[in-house]
Amino acid sequence: MTGSARRAPSGDMAPEDVPLQDRSVGTLKGVGPSLRSKLERLGVFTLGDLLAHLPTRYQDRSRLVALNALKPETDALVEGEVVESRVGFGRRRSWTITVTDGYGFLTLRFFHFSRRQQEAVRPGMRLRAFGEVRFGPKGLEMAHPEYRTFDRDPPPLENALTPVYRTTKGLSQDRLRRLIAQLVSQDWPRGPGAPYEDYLYLHAPPADATEADIAERQDRLAMDELTAYYLVMRRRQRDRARQKTLPLPRSIQLGRKLLEDLGFELTGAQKRVVREVLEDLERDTPMLRLVQGDVGSGKTVVAAFAAIRAAEQGAQTALMAPTEILAEQHYLNFSAWLEPLGIDVVLLTGSLPAAARRRTAERIASGEALVAVGTHALFQGGVEFHKLALTIIDEQHRFGVHQRMALRNKGRTPHQLVMTATPIPRTLTMALYADMAVSVIDELPRGRQPIETRLVSAARRDEVVDSVRQVLEAGGQAYWVCPLIEASEQLELAAAEQTAEDLAAALPAHNIGLLHGRLPGPEKARVMQAFAAGRLGALVATTVIEVGVNVPNATLMVIENPERMGLAQLHQLRGRVGRGSAASHCILLYRGPLGAIARARLKAVRQSQDGFYLAEQDLALRGAGELLGTRQTGEQSFRIADLSRHAHLLGEVTARGDRLLAEAPDEARALLRAWAPADTGHISV
Ligand code: ADP
Ligand code: MG
Repeated sequence: MTGSARRAPSGDMAPEDVPLQDRSVGTLKGVGPSLRSKLERLGVFTLGDLLAHLPTRYQDRSRLVALNALKPETDALVEGEVVESRVGFGRRRSWTITVTDGYGFLTLRFFHFSRRQQEAVRPGMRLRAFGEVRFGPKGLEMAHPEYRTFDRDPPPLENALTPVYRTTKGLSQDRLRRLIAQLVSQDWPRGPGAPYEDYLYLHAPPADATEADIAERQDRLAMDELTAYYLVMRRRQRDRARQKTLPLPRSIQLGRKLLEDLGFELTGAQKRVVREVLEDLERDTPMLRLVQGDVGSGKTVVAAFAAIRAAEQGAQTALMAPTEILAEQHYLNFSAWLEPLGIDVVLLTGSLPAAARRRTAERIASGEALVAVGTHALFQGGVEFHKLALTIIDEQHRFGVHQRMALRNKGRTPHQLVMTATPIPRTLTMALYADMAVSVIDELPRGRQPIETRLVSAARRDEVVDSVRQVLEAGGQAYWVCPLIEASEQLELAAAEQTAEDLAAALPAHNIGLLHGRLPGPEKARVMQAFAAGRLGALVATTVIEVGVNVPNATLMVIENPERMGLAQLHQLRGRVGRGSAASHCILLYRGPLGAIARARLKAVRQSQDGFYLAEQDLALRGAGELLGTRQTGEQSFRIADLSRHAHLLGEVTARGDRLLAEAPDEARALLRAWAPADTGHISV
């Protein structure tokens, strides 16, 4: 497993003292500092890492394909006699070689070539080439194939499949292949059942290996890796169960008072989850519970009941949100719910002026503030809690694992409640979140209206502006979410500013607000409050509003370039509307043409409002990296396992992991050693 806290490569130790797999790649012939840093970019530090850098696919250079049997869009190895070699001056100057093998003809085409190359190929010579077959102007062609000429004896055919690796700038496929060939020829234990057998096989499968043969080996490795990950999670769970923390027993029952004051009745699911949480809190082992609930299912109030339980014991709660807007909103809710019960709530975010921040930190340190709401600023630089008993982390998929670990109390491990609106399919939860107990709020408060979702092409943008006008004129409000522009906050901002201007021009009778990541915190809060209070009709935003914001009067959500977003993210954004009793709409303003997968995904969003179903779809269509937010946080995923291909193994992973723990602890330890040298989760859970 790759992770930032990985084992240091043992580059400078005498190689013979170090097991082969732990030696630095620098011990391979020809690997100097420059090549080494390129390999490091691929996550490769040790020989073991390089061995685990498996091919993404294979080429078959073990057999010749007759020229009348070529299929377009496949790779092929061909051989024949050169009948013509000429430079043509068509639309683009190119050199073509025509070969025949007596069965058919093939054209090899080059756009870049030297005179020397061209003069070396003459009619009558024999030639062998490997490349992708395509349709050309006059029949089948290969563009820029690898080729060699020979006079009499043809070069021998490969007896293994040729691997194709993921590589990086400045490191050619060929160089990487030669390096791995050198690696494979080292003194690894061989034979069926030997620990590295499957890796060695996958780097050079025999020429007659079938796809099923290869998949079997890949599955076996993925299975081991996932099982090791599961075992790590189970070990963490066991370690946690041995720790002691402050139990929070039932006492004066301030919670009852909140129930009366709320103004709504909890759903059955909320009641059940509150009960599950409170039962955990009564124990003297620290809770670690994940609460999953679709957007709008009412997770915040569940968290409030937990905070009240801690406060009843005079103990503190830290509630951490991923954005300032959300922290602000939680602060308002918690103050409204808890202050009447005599519980002091404070807000601590990065944008607080230094003096105010110091005062707030003092109130946390003295224990006077029993609930501290904030962003990651809560656990940065010198915020000490007097008696922290509970941490609550909202929308956890936005935090990396290291941040999750950083919110600590001096001494004891606090109880921990993690809340997410990312619905994670059950098989995934069981295997990948095995260190957590899971509660699901699988019911929405009554009276919520379904959100009607439409797909509209960007060519019809004007009609969308009209829809906004209609909503505003009827007294409703609208969100307009501008596209996520990767790697350019600048462009993203420009697009949002332009949209806000256009809307203001088209709707002069209404106030249009703009919210983006560059706004200072207080300004963001001001805009958000103006929207919440109805002083702004429409709010143009970059994707910052994704999480948690609650404005029941907003009934229209426009999302630009939805094809670039994950289904979970789209579902989250859409969940900003449909929070009141009026009918709500969502318009997905896409830029065509859409590929087949994009179309299938958007269709799923249009047809379903079930977060769990959408998560399953995302998993099937794009893989779990999207789902778990690992792509967003840039954290590495598994080495071998690819959850879009291997999710079907997860049921077996948990069964096998449990069996190993019960019956073969030595085997479990060996698996852990092989796969998880540093016990850190690398998935952002
Ligand atoms: P999420 O699960 O997305 O975090 P919130 O906690 O923000 O959802 O709740 C969304 C809205 O629903 C809030 O205005 C909240 O006060 C309200 N709400 C929560 N529970 C109920 C309920 N049982 N009945 C009616 N409204 C509720
Ligand atoms: Mg929420």
